[in-house]
Amino acid sequence: MNETLLIKNGYIITLGENNRVLKNHSILVEDGKIKKIGHSKDFTGQYGHVINASGKVVMPGFINAHMHFYSTFVRGLCKAKPSANFRELLENLWWKLDKCLTLDDCYYSALLPLIDAVKRGTTTIMDHHASPFAARGSLNKIAEAVKKTGLRASLCYELSDRDGQSIARDGIDENVDFIKRCNSEKDEQLKALFGLHASFTITDRTMEQAAKAGSELGAGFHIHTAEAKSDQEHSEKNFGMRVVERLHKFSILGPKTIAAHCVHVNAREMDLLKETDTAVVHNPQSNMNNAVGTADIIKMSNKGILVGLGTDAMTVNMLEELRVAMWAQHLRHDDPCAGFMESISTLPFNNAKIANRHWETKLGELKEGYAADIILMDYYPPTPFDENTFLGHLGFGLSQSFVDTTIAGGKVLMEKKKLKIDVDEREAAKESLKLSAALWERF
Ligand SMILES: [Zn+2]
Repeated sequence: MNETLLIKNGYIITLGENNRVLKNHSILVEDGKIKKIGHSKDFTGQYGHVINASGKVVMPGFINAHMHFYSTFVRGLCKAKPSANFRELLENLWWKLDKCLTLDDCYYSALLPLIDAVKRGTTTIMDHHASPFAARGSLNKIAEAVKKTGLRASLCYELSDRDGQSIARDGIDENVDFIKRCNSEKDEQLKALFGLHASFTITDRTMEQAAKAGSELGAGFHIHTAEAKSDQEHSEKNFGMRVVERLHKFSILGPKTIAAHCVHVNAREMDLLKETDTAVVHNPQSNMNNAVGTADIIKMSNKGILVGLGTDAMTVNMLEELRVAMWAQHLRHDDPCAGFMESISTLPFNNAKIANRHWETKLGELKEGYAADIILMDYYPPTPFDENTFLGHLGFGLSQSFVDTTIAGGKVLMEKKKLKIDVDEREAAKESLKLSAALWERF
């Protein structure tokens, strides 16, 4: 009995194929999963823990489909040279930063955004990690931080040839070891993908080795794809083909693969993404920040490509990213009505579909047998609130509300805005501050 958790009296948003808004219903959680959803009057037993969701909206935890935890340590750093384009940004900032990371840095730069994710109701994160001079063991370090906070994460190491053959080898080995770990442990908090930086930093030889190693382990890939125009120019000049064509040639594409960005893909490349059922992850804030353009997610969605939403380390607040995704399509298409459904569906529906290609436990829907990854948000709807109006409320009202309670795998990680995780946030921040200051010295 003490293992059970009952959430009662809220507006329950189920999401999923048949999204419903349920009133006067309760959710019973047992063994990390949703045991039963029904009329509140049917729950008359004794429960280990009861959460009163009156004045709250109860919905599945958010999923972030593209993130870089390590970027945390760049916050406030003013030492990078000014950059005129995306390539220079990588060289002057990101590739200088990631070279300075130690294994301890990997742990703490992940721990802080993970704590923040609990506060923002993001319960699953698909991360893409780089630390070329501390590659080996880095994913286990990040996994430790994930385990500590109780969230779920898919991790991968960003393989590239930019630091020479030996570090590229480390990148392959790090991916392989972590995929093997996840395959054998079957821990539902941790999943693995094979990480690749991007087409323009990976030679044919390394791409071939990665493709072979990843496919032998049954893993999907996670790669930045045609993020900037320069990725396409590099591919056409050096390989005589477009970026997505090159990834297809090496069998990198597929249902388990995440192609992040796809800002500069043509119709033929979209067809390849569709044919291979590859998931595209849109990161509008990052694309604007890097001045690389805006992906045409309307066109991709119309072709039937599964388009999810990531934050690319700009934030862990998925609702902030979602709103930007909406406005970005308006600007992209010079039309104030363009792409409402295509953009707003990315977070609540498409990210769940992407995650469910990786997790055995079903995520992203409040349904019996599904993961008890549940959040409560403060919300008193000022206008009629039901299945037909929910997406409008999500974009324009709920997105401005506070997360009150976060539950992942049936564990209450935050309740009434108080963290209940096994980490002292203040101590973690203190350690992070010390480590980042030292890293800035090395930068
Ligand atoms: Zn990224």
